[in-house]
Amino acid sequence: MGTVALDRVTKTYRNGTVAIRSLSLAIADGELFVLLGPSGCGKTTLLRAVAGLEDVTEGRILIAGQDVTELRPKDRDVAMVFQNYALYPHMSVYDNIAFGVQSRRLKKAEVDARVRRVAALLEVDHLLKRKPRMLSGGEQQRVAMGRAIVRDPEVFLMDEPLSNVDARLRLQLRAEIARIQKDVGVTMLYVTHDQTEAMTLGDRVGVMRDGILQQVAAPGDLYRNPRNLFVAGFVGSPPMNLAEATVEEADGDLFVRFSGQRIRAAAATSTPREALRAYAWRQVVVGIRPEDLHLAAAVDAPEGARLRVAIERRETIGPDAYLHFGVDAPLLLGRDPREPHEPIDESWPAERRNVWIARSSTGAGGPGDAVELGIRSGRMLLFDPRTGDVIEG
Ligand code: ATP
Repeated sequence: MGTVALDRVTKTYRNGTVAIRSLSLAIADGELFVLLGPSGCGKTTLLRAVAGLEDVTEGRILIAGQDVTELRPKDRDVAMVFQNYALYPHMSVYDNIAFGVQSRRLKKAEVDARVRRVAALLEVDHLLKRKPRMLSGGEQQRVAMGRAIVRDPEVFLMDEPLSNVDARLRLQLRAEIARIQKDVGVTMLYVTHDQTEAMTLGDRVGVMRDGILQQVAAPGDLYRNPRNLFVAGFVGSPPMNLAEATVEEADGDLFVRFSGQRIRAAAATSTPREALRAYAWRQVVVGIRPEDLHLAAAVDAPEGARLRVAIERRETIGPDAYLHFGVDAPLLLGRDPREPHEPIDESWPAERRNVWIARSSTGAGGPGDAVELGIRSGRMLLFDPRTGDVIEG
């Protein structure tokens, strides 16, 4: 049973940097768990701690139910694949894979059987005699994985294994890693800062920031129901539209006002009424994903769930288009949770103008057009600007 459990793990480096803060996590047997977060959030430290390459300051690590906190790396049943494949250039593919079980004192026939089984699984069995330099990047990656798989570990640890490969190959290898992981049935802990990679690969994704796990959920759930502003802003591309707003109460109804417009809460959010009432006449942060804003003419959005906007820019992406428009409302009081993202377009004004994006599947909506956008029912999220947490019941 390749379960992995972290029980209130804290890691403080000698220089005082706290890389992981009392983090608890349980990964199921056979699960592909992705740890996602910006640079420096502690992902690699966590992975190295599970591998035993880094000792922990507090807490326990369990693999397959066994407390391995004090065990040396070689006594933990894990295999790690790093960013660079680090194949031995002078060795054949066969010997590179066999190297993974070198220290096991297995009989030659047993080693041979294992290498051939793994090579077949990874579809590199026709390359066994070649040297690494005669392989493509993708083939090298598979051989590196083979060297880890041949050991038949309980747990597979991967630290940004695709960060050095080009975009097209990355897509292919990502699919391959998922296939191999499921075929072998091994538990995998995969670290990345790339949210697309995390969302397409993970059975579950854990979002990390400053050594703290912010949320753990299946990708779709993480996307639709982010627990806080950080997760909301970090997951999704283009990112969720965010703006400061005020909650108003009138005639027994609740409204969210921003950019000079008033949205009827019940028509656009699924935030429970009672929870929202506590915010009456206070500030909140409103968040709407681009695909949850659509041209109202196409789908009849109810009264009170429409935004009047002036389109500034239209960006065609395959069958759909992104409609850009300015929102007259500050992005956020404090830190911008969208920071980790690449700018969508370098020509954007440098100052922090709040530009929103709607995703449109119709041909309508060009620069200069004044249009009405409907907010998909229940898809407007509201956050507490002080804590960053989503407002819920
Ligand atoms: P990246 O994606 O850039 O690799 P990460 O999320 O993997 O980042 P870590 O490498 O785990 O982050 O680092 C977490 C924090 O611990 C950072 O602030 C980093 O500077 C610090 N850190 C990492 N290794 C050490 C070390 N050996 N000594 C002191 N501080 C360290």
